[in-house]
Amino acid sequence: MDLGLKGKRALVCASSKGLGRGCAEALAEAGVELVMNARGAEALEAAAADIRARTGVPVTAIAADITSEEGRARVLEAAGAVDILVTNAGGPPPGIWTDWTRDDFIKALDANMLTPIALMQALLPGMMARGWGRVVNITSQAVKAPIGVLGLSNSARTGLTGFVAGTARQVAGSGVTINNLLPGIHATDRAESLDGGVAKKEGISMDEARARRVATIPAGRYGTPEEFGAACAFLCSQYAGFIVGQNILLDGGGINTTL
Ligand code: NAP
Repeated sequence: MDLGLKGKRALVCASSKGLGRGCAEALAEAGVELVMNARGAEALEAAAADIRARTGVPVTAIAADITSEEGRARVLEAAGAVDILVTNAGGPPPGIWTDWTRDDFIKALDANMLTPIALMQALLPGMMARGWGRVVNITSQAVKAPIGVLGLSNSARTGLTGFVAGTARQVAGSGVTINNLLPGIHATDRAESLDGGVAKKEGISMDEARARRVATIPAGRYGTPEEFGAACAFLCSQYAGFIVGQNILLDGGGINTTL
């Protein structure tokens, strides 16, 4: 399927690994020129080189912490006038509500709410002026159903979801869509680290921790970054212009809801 994206330009944040990388790869395969970002330069350069070699699209790699003002400024300068923005950053650590301090909340809000909002504020005006744009925010299934140990994530991502709900309707008339993709468990480093935490806490092996989690997913497995990336590329496509302000759950049926 030709997504109608050849020659477009995208900024994909936090994309040297995992879900961000899945999005970068799927967009590159659709012919989109990329600006990729992550903090670690080595893995980022390797991912960029791999995508360049496989797809032939130009890829610019900017090593920076997207949650810092300085890092964001460097990424935005390199990105210039992009047609597509995929926001992403690492998720907050697990814990318990009694322990989280104001500083913990500020850090989580900065990473998973205020950073995507700042990126949208910087890039939406250009997209609107050009009459076409796509924003996809990588959030979490925690928006639909809270995850007790990830209270920092529940809080920050719900705040972002509220911002998107209002803003998406304000920019849609200019040909710009904003939607959120809500990952359930996907096979990435983040899932490894969450499973590692469970294994340690429960005194069980990693295999057992994984098996217990898989048992909660009707699809009977973890999702893959490739599947996630393909959904992102579709939301960015010419065919998705009528999908506005939606929260799309990719979780193998894990969240038991009718709507
Ligand atoms: P991952 O495999 O750990 O990859 C994270 C990527 O983001 C890496 O490329 C990392 O590179 C980059 N990154 C992290 N913090 C960054 C920062 N401050 N600035 C720039 N780049 C940064 O994680 P993932 O599984 O893809 O998860 C992506 C997002 O989805 C996270 O917010 C996560 O909480 C959320 N999520 C994931 C799952 C899941 O099952 N995987 C489920 C629900 C929600 P560097 O470390 O080099 O910066």
